[in-house]
Amino acid sequence: MAKPRKLKTVSHRLTEILAIEELEATGGDEYNIEAMSPDTAVPVCIECKGPTANHGRFTRKLLDVVQIGEKKQFVRLHYRFYKYRCLSENCNTVFQKPVAFVNENAKITKRYEDEIIRHVLYESIDKARKDLEEYIVRGNRRDLISKPAISKLIKRWVDERDTKRKFVTQAVIRLYSFCFSHNNYIIACSEDSGQKETNIIEVIPSISESGIKEFFSKIEVDALYAVVVDCNPVVYMSVKSMLPSKVRILVDTDSLCRVLRDEFKEYINERMKRYQKHIRETFVKDPVKLDNEDLACLRRLQKKDAELKSAYNSYSQLYSILKNQRDIIETRDWMNSLGEEAGIYILTTSYLSEYMKELTGFQSVINEDHNYDFIYEIARKIEQYFPISTDEIFRARILYSDFDRKEEKQWKGTSVSRLTGLVDDMIRIGGLKKHER
Ligand SMILES: [Zn+2]
Repeated sequence: MAKPRKLKTVSHRLTEILAIEELEATGGDEYNIEAMSPDTAVPVCIECKGPTANHGRFTRKLLDVVQIGEKKQFVRLHYRFYKYRCLSENCNTVFQKPVAFVNENAKITKRYEDEIIRHVLYESIDKARKDLEEYIVRGNRRDLISKPAISKLIKRWVDERDTKRKFVTQAVIRLYSFCFSHNNYIIACSEDSGQKETNIIEVIPSISESGIKEFFSKIEVDALYAVVVDCNPVVYMSVKSMLPSKVRILVDTDSLCRVLRDEFKEYINERMKRYQKHIRETFVKDPVKLDNEDLACLRRLQKKDAELKSAYNSYSQLYSILKNQRDIIETRDWMNSLGEEAGIYILTTSYLSEYMKELTGFQSVINEDHNYDFIYEIARKIEQYFPISTDEIFRARILYSDFDRKEEKQWKGTSVSRLTGLVDDMIRIGGLKKHER
């Protein structure tokens, strides 16, 4: 049996192409690279630290991606390594030296895995595979991993990241739920008091009591001061039933504003069916963002339609109370002044009465802050540009798409502002185009 010794032949050119720090290329060509670790010293046993003997040389065939000049391509990596056997009779462990470039039992290198993950977070799986096709050398299509293998890889990759997280409980946690046609989920955030940032720390892939319960099992509930929720009754009731009574529950005023806007929008779409889309959109715009042309258009249409006029007045009044941080108590007058148009705002008024205390609390504790709107925008964009994905990919996009970030001991999540930029990158690179949606 061959004794491990210094590598005899080393191809510097192939080693450079391979560019894996732990390995040196010992032969092959640009497509079939044979490589070994230059560290051939016989190690001590990994179990008992006793002496060991060489137990033979083996080859692992792996798929990899390398960069040659400007171009990336698939290669077959023939990784040669030694196994060693412990000489002490009670131990007898057979092992090999650990390596960092490939996971145990994997058929592709970590570099190849990363390449896939980056593509899949920024594109659909089909598009990602189409891009990766360009790395195929001489028609070797088998080097491109299959769709099921990609799904499996993503799942493992996300699981790994999930288990590594060590949550630090901050004083305030937020739970915002989103109900879109393809995805229903809750985004959990916490404030990083040091950096004055709001970070997304978890994505719960359902809007359910059990999902919320599981989330709270990961943090120290006793250390909480307040939990901010949106108007969703499932979220509110679950949080209320789970948390000790000393934890304050607050309802985000911006989330109520979203309910108001959605109800008014539904009314406008029904009543103004015959009008062009941009006119209907002018009605639901943020009233402070209206320009003179918009205002003239709104006035003209309201003149012709008294019902529309009072509906719009109620909408813009409440919008202004909620968005301008005016005392929530003013909403009582708003509700009392509703006439016929009360039928448009059924959810809004019921949430207002139900959550009056919590909305007031939000105003006094959190004050000016529009994280709900920023997070809503992130969620809406992902729904629009990446409508179909598995829970894992969806969670990975929100939680783990920041590849530039260093490993942290404590899990702080991704900041809302950073994620806003990342999502725009995703849309630019792989978001569905208008005709594909
Ligand atoms: Zn041993």
